[in-house]
Amino acid sequence: MNLNILVLPGDGIGTEVTREAVKVLRRVVRKSDHSLKLTEGLLGGIAIHKTGSPLPDETVRLASEADATLMGAVGLPEFDHAPPEKRPEKGLLGIRKVLGVYANLRPVRAYPALLDSSPLKNDRVAGTDMIIVRELTGGIYYGTPRGIEENGSETRAINTMVYTRAEIERVAQMAFHLARGRRKKVTSVDKSNVLENSQLWRRVVTEIAREFPDVALDHMLVDNCAMQLILTPLRFDVVLTENMFGDILSDEGAVLAGSIGMLPSASIGDRKPSGAWVGLYEPVHGSAPDIAGQNKANPLGAIGSVAALLEYSFGLKQEAAAVNAAVEAVLCSGKVTADLKPPGRPATTEEVGEAVCAAI
Ligand code: NAD
Repeated sequence: MNLNILVLPGDGIGTEVTREAVKVLRRVVRKSDHSLKLTEGLLGGIAIHKTGSPLPDETVRLASEADATLMGAVGLPEFDHAPPEKRPEKGLLGIRKVLGVYANLRPVRAYPALLDSSPLKNDRVAGTDMIIVRELTGGIYYGTPRGIEENGSETRAINTMVYTRAEIERVAQMAFHLARGRRKKVTSVDKSNVLENSQLWRRVVTEIAREFPDVALDHMLVDNCAMQLILTPLRFDVVLTENMFGDILSDEGAVLAGSIGMLPSASIGDRKPSGAWVGLYEPVHGSAPDIAGQNKANPLGAIGSVAALLEYSFGLKQEAAAVNAAVEAVLCSGKVTADLKPPGRPATTEEVGEAVCAAI
């Protein structure tokens, strides 16, 4: 198989963790019969500096030509007060929209070697293995009308939460398909006691569930879910939710995994004519300006994103499993970055990347 992949390192630690993820990708491909074509593009703050736009046309072209895209993270503090069109995060929302990746998959696992890194009690967290499926291209982050209106002495800010039946159906179908390959349970999260939007969400998810009689469905309000994720994480298998709720809940999942630096993500769209699924793969974390440039970011979320890319875009389950097993071996060896609080000297980003390569 020929893997045609676009790499968008982005800003801050995005460039550091992506460098290690690419090393791992090269290593895995070298050990197999596959070939790799890598192209690099600009996204986020670096793209604004070089081209004036957070999502240059050239990046859009490269992304549509590639089978899959591997991304770091975007965001630079110098743009914190820039207008929305000139912010790095605009590039991120833009590339998701351009690729039409509507389902964001975030696996959350409590690795045995990391149980002590979690601030939660070990007996609550041990055995956690869930996947959060977040709708990614609809909801309040994209809905219109939106904006801030100045009207005499009054100022109003407006955002709109919109979902169509079709948008809910396709992401729900993806969640149920995933559950079929796992423990066959979907928990759909909404706020249907308050929002009409959530009432439609609940109705459509319930209808889709009838197509999957072998998968159990339950519904949970988002405020309760925020609590249950911490109190009873083992009860979750596939968590299905809309864009903003998923954004918030999946960061909560980071606490279960020990560090936000551990979490990979996969954003999936429709199938390409080549047979590969359109996919954008990135760690969950941001550009972490507080530790950028210090070679101490945890690259395992980015490396886990390589495993997700191999599995979801290309169906290369064995190769993905080899990456995940190497990550687990490195965790057990204790060669981990400072965020995971190793007993001895913390490893650097580069050392962790090299250790994963060596373990493959
Ligand atoms: P962040 O995820 O960048 O950092 C939050 C905290 O976690 C920081 O203390 C950071 O040092 C730590 N952290 C994050 N990743 C880590 C890693 N791999 N290893 C070790 N520690 C890690 O979130 P933030 O500080 O809220 O945002 C910083 C910038 O990143 C902002 O500009 C924000 O908009 C952007 N951001 C981008 C994305 C993305 O590109 N997908 C996601 C979230 C935030």
